[in-house]
Amino acid sequence: MSLEIKNLEKAYKNGVKALDKVSLTIPKGMFGLLGPNGAGKSTLMRTVATLQSPDKGEIFFEGIDVLKDPMSLRRILGYLPQEFGVYPKVSGERLLNYFANLKGISSKSDRSKLIGEILELTNLTEVRKKYVSGYSGGMKQRFGIAQLLLNNPKLIIVDEPTAGLDPAERVRFLNILREIGSRNTVIFSTHIVEDVKDLCHEVAIMNGGRILHRKSPVNAVNAIDGRVWTTSIKSEDLDSTKEKHQILSSSYNRDDSINIRIYSENHPGGEFIPAKPQLDDVYFLILKEASETPTLTI
Ligand code: ADP
Repeated sequence: MSLEIKNLEKAYKNGVKALDKVSLTIPKGMFGLLGPNGAGKSTLMRTVATLQSPDKGEIFFEGIDVLKDPMSLRRILGYLPQEFGVYPKVSGERLLNYFANLKGISSKSDRSKLIGEILELTNLTEVRKKYVSGYSGGMKQRFGIAQLLLNNPKLIIVDEPTAGLDPAERVRFLNILREIGSRNTVIFSTHIVEDVKDLCHEVAIMNGGRILHRKSPVNAVNAIDGRVWTTSIKSEDLDSTKEKHQILSSSYNRDDSINIRIYSENHPGGEFIPAKPQLDDVYFLILKEASETPTLTI
């Protein structure tokens, strides 16, 4: 049940190359597409969801040639865009019932069984009688998932689902995706490293329309073990430290000193001590190296 993306290219009319020979194999499970704003994530997801056409390339899913036969993909696709429409003053349960009817689930008992299961899975059972228009941002996101599950999709694409959610709601939402991902292919995009850390079997890092890196979070972190170092410096020394070292990230302390993490194959000298690498380090390193060597693909 893997999704095969081959050499996708897309340039917008304004000249922005949003997809630059993107090739990816995405297996069953949760797949995270990580990248900063403008990386090309939405373009890639909308293209896979058959909402826009690439200039070149191919996409296959379960024997379907997606670009040649978009209707077949749409039948098994669930797509949750970054922004979706205004919801009416109708309860969550009634609205799902309405959509299920539209989808042709004509037996009332089949509908209520399915909707009951979906409400349970998306943690909305308690608020099922409340108007969707009054749902919180997180509940609306979960309702979006509930809605697409009515289709029993095999491929689920969710664009930046955690943007704007508070931490508890974020975790709740991601856990729902994980549950769905145990049976299907779920791709979700995010600019938050934390989102993909524990949840995704695999992650691709994207920027400038290119896939820069693709590994499991664990392997990605292990690959830089022994090469991340940390120390605390005075804030006025930041510029000179930047010249000498490849800084991955920095954070201010209360006393105005700065904790820095750097990448170095060997001990960088001075006060540096080894740091346990994290996925953030991989992310910053990959983005940095790619911006310094524009043709690099790791
Ligand atoms: P992301 O989802 O990672 O933020 P996008 O796919 O939205 O990235 O955008 C990739 C690049 O393409 C950005 O530079 C963006 O400004 C540009 N872009 C996106 N959509 C359009 C469009 N319809 N017309 C022109 N440029 C676009």
